[in-house]
Formats: sequence, C-alpha cells, structure tokens
Amino acid sequence: MTDTAPPSGKTSSFGFRDVDAKEKVQLVRGVFDSVASSYDLMNDLMSGGVHRLWKDAAAAKLNPRPGETILDVAGGTGDMARRYSKMARAAQTRRGGPGPSNPDASVFVLDYNAEMIMAGVQKGGEPEMSWSVGDAMALPMPDASVDAYSISFGIRNVADIPQALREARRVLKPGGRFLCLEFSRPTASAIRKAYDAWSFHAIPRIGGWVAGDRESYQYLVESIRRFPDQSTFKSMIESAGFSRVTVTNLSGGVAAIHHGWAI
Ligand code: SAM
Repeated sequence: MTDTAPPSGKTSSFGFRDVDAKEKVQLVRGVFDSVASSYDLMNDLMSGGVHRLWKDAAAAKLNPRPGETILDVAGGTGDMARRYSKMARAAQTRRGGPGPSNPDASVFVLDYNAEMIMAGVQKGGEPEMSWSVGDAMALPMPDASVDAYSISFGIRNVADIPQALREARRVLKPGGRFLCLEFSRPTASAIRKAYDAWSFHAIPRIGGWVAGDRESYQYLVESIRRFPDQSTFKSMIESAGFSRVTVTNLSGGVAAIHHGWAI
C-alpha cells in the first residue's frame, strides 16, 4: 500500500506554519518516525494517563460488535483496535460464544507510518487484529466494505482532512458508524488557561527529556491549536456526507468525540 500525496500547490498547517500539503505528509511522517518508540509512554506522561479514559469512552461509543469489520485509521500502536477487539469478543461471549451466527470481528489497524505499526506489533495484538501501512487519504479498502471507521488523535495530522473524511464515507457500508477522537477546544476559560500553560510549556520539555525530541512535541501542541473547534469540525463531517453527527466533550472539551452515521 502506498501514500497518495495531495496535489502540490495546496497548503496545509504544520503546527503554526503553513506548508505545502505534500511537504506536510513528509514532515508529519518524520515526527512519528521520531516519537514511535516512546509514543505510549509520552501519551501517559502528557495526559497523566487520562488519554486511556478518553479512549475507553470512544470505544464504548463505537460499540464494536461480533462479525463487524472495523477500521481504525491512523491507528498508531493499536490502542483503539485492542479495545475494539476485546469489546467485540466480550459481546460475542455474552451471545453464547463464537459460531456461524456469531462470528469474530475483524479489526484493521491502518497507519501510514511503518515505525508506529512496528511499535504496535511489538506491543502485541489480539486475534481479531491485522496491521497494515496505508494512507487515510487513499484507503486501501473497497467502497461500502466497513461497518465502523475510527480515527483517534490522527485526523489533525492528515494533510487534507476533507479528503480523509470523504474516504471514510466511501468505505463505510450504509448504516456504518464514523467516530473521531481528537483534541478540541476547552469550553471554559479556566480550563483553557491551565491547558495552554501545560501544553506550551511542559509538553515540549517532557518530549525533550523522554523522547529526546522537543521539536516533535512542539509540533503536536501547535497542531492541536490549529485544529478546528467542535462545531467547525462537525460541519466538515456533515459536508463529507455523514448524518446525525454528535459531539461529546471530554475533560471539558480538551478532547472530543465526533460520531456520525453513513446513511
Ligand atoms: N490512533 C493512535 C492513538 O490514538 O494512540 C495514534 C495517534 S498518533 C498521535 C497519530 C498517528 O497518525 C500516527 O501514528 C501517524 O503516523 C498517523 N498518521 C498521520 N497522517 C496519516 C495519514 N495520512 N494516514 C494514515 N496515518 C496517518
């Protein structure tokens, strides 16, 4: 599977800079090449472990079921896919165990960065999971082939977000679910101030100490600020053809779950 770079001439944000969309693809790849081996530890340090609760909430919202084809795009080291596999299996057990009318789920982790996939494979998977390298902007899946699509802390890194959303819509079956977990805009100014102080001052420093890469974490913090707020992103999802789009704020809007239906 290969990346399909967006046409040159289009600009996209790379942190607080605007760069050619093609260049962004390479720059973001460099960031995740650099942070792959320390990615999970850094997530715990940066969020005080709260990212695990956000991921639990997002997985519960997606509600994976036995027999479903679930695609986790920008899946990184597989955090969401492991949750989906276990939840689908638990539902299968509740329905009396595997059988012709109660088959296993298939959970695909797709990420365009082989280093992140490798880190995930080394961490270990679940029997339902398979891993591949591929691009959110050109998914290697047929039309209407997926029951549920998710992208967690991935979409703000994608050079052409509307194109990634159109791809999500394309691969989902009628009645399929779309879920995005992403950093968003804190709703209260007190939270916003504390969060700004933490993210702009502490996170790049922690990235420097733990991952030996302050710049990559500076990018991650800046990319969060450049990402559209809850209602703007909701409109983008609707423009891609999704219906009944809802927003669930987490930790006062520090992160948000956007959920929609391919009808
Ligand atoms: N989903 C994982 C999680 O929640 O822990 C990983 C999130 S990590 C912050 C962002 C991931 O997006 C990286 O693994 C990166 O390689 C991937 N990514 C960025 N742009 C992508 C694209 N166009 N297609 C596929 N993956 C992409």
